[in-house]
Amino acid sequence: MKNCFLIFIVFLFFSCANSKAIDSRSDSLLNKYSKSINEADLRKHLYIIASDSMEGRQTGSIGQKYAGRYLINQYKRNEIAPAANTTDYLQFIPSSALKTRGGQFLDSSENIAAFIKGSEKPDEIIVLSAHYDHVGVKNGIIFNGADDDGSGTVALLEIAKAFKEAQKDGHGPKRSILFLHVTGEEHGLLGSKFYSENPLYPLENTISDINIDMIGRRDADHSQSNNYVYVIGAERLSTDLLNIVIAANEKSSKIDLDFRYTENNDPSRYYTRSDHYNFAKNGIPSVFFFNGVHADYHKSTDTVDKIEFDALTKRSQLAFAVAWELANRENRITVDKK
Ligand SMILES: [Zn+2]
Repeated sequence: MKNCFLIFIVFLFFSCANSKAIDSRSDSLLNKYSKSINEADLRKHLYIIASDSMEGRQTGSIGQKYAGRYLINQYKRNEIAPAANTTDYLQFIPSSALKTRGGQFLDSSENIAAFIKGSEKPDEIIVLSAHYDHVGVKNGIIFNGADDDGSGTVALLEIAKAFKEAQKDGHGPKRSILFLHVTGEEHGLLGSKFYSENPLYPLENTISDINIDMIGRRDADHSQSNNYVYVIGAERLSTDLLNIVIAANEKSSKIDLDFRYTENNDPSRYYTRSDHYNFAKNGIPSVFFFNGVHADYHKSTDTVDKIEFDALTKRSQLAFAVAWELANRENRITVDKK
C-alpha cells in the first residue's frame, strides 16, 4: 500500500511537471508569434486603409470596395484561404438587407471573410471581427476613420498573419479561426447582423467572437498613458472568457484592463453598440476591445497621423493572445450565464 502511494505521488509529480512544460512551451510560441504583430506593418496597412483614396469607406461605395480589395490582396499574399461559402472572400449583402436607421437602403455591400482551419477541432470556430466601413464623405470632406475602425481592420490582418506563420511552422491553431471584416456597422451593425442571420459556419459551433473597434487612440480619462484597453462583455456569458482575457494579458501585453464599461447598467451601453453584440445575442461569448471615444470620434479629423501605433500594437497582441488560448486550449469555453 505504501508503495502504491509512492508510485502515485511520483506519477503526480511527473504529470504536473509535464503539463507545466507543455504550458510554458505554448506560452513561448505565443510570445514568438505575437511579436510578428508589429508597428511597422500596422502603420503600412493603416496609411492605406485610412487614406483619402478610400473616400471614408462608406458602405456600398467604391472607396469601401477599394479598401476591401486591399484586405483580400493581403490575405492572398499571406496564403490565408477565403472562408467557406464566400466568393473570393466576399459575402454579398443585398441592398434590401442594408436599411439605415433613417429608413433608406444603402447600396449592396460585402462582408470579407478569411479562414484558418484548425488542426484538431476544425468545426469549432473562433471569430475575430472588425468593421471596415466608415461614414464616407460629407459636404466634400472625407472622413478617414483611422481609429474607427481602420485600427481594428489592420489589427485583424496582422493577427491573421501571425496565426498563419505559426501554422506554417507546424503550430497552427487547434480550432479554426474566422477573420471577419464586416460592413454596415455605422448604420446599425448591419453587416454583423446579416452574418448572424446567414452564418458561413454554424453558430452553434461558433465558440466566441473577439471584436475590435477603435484601438489606436486614447480617451480623455487616460491622458497620462495609452497603456490600457477597455474590455467589454467578456464575463456576460462566460466566466471562462473573462479569465482567459486576464490570463492572456498577463502572458502578452500586460496593459491595464479597464472594465468600467462592461457593467449591465452602464449608461454608455457599449456592449450593445458594436458588432460582437450580434454574436452575444445569439448566446456566443463575446469580448469587445475598445479605446473609448475622443475629440475626433466620428469627425473628419479621425486621421492616421493621430494613431498611437505603440498602443495599437499591444492591444492587437492582446487580441491575438486571447484568440490563441481560445483556439488551443483543451476544452471549449463554457457558457455559464444568460
Ligand atoms: Zn466603430
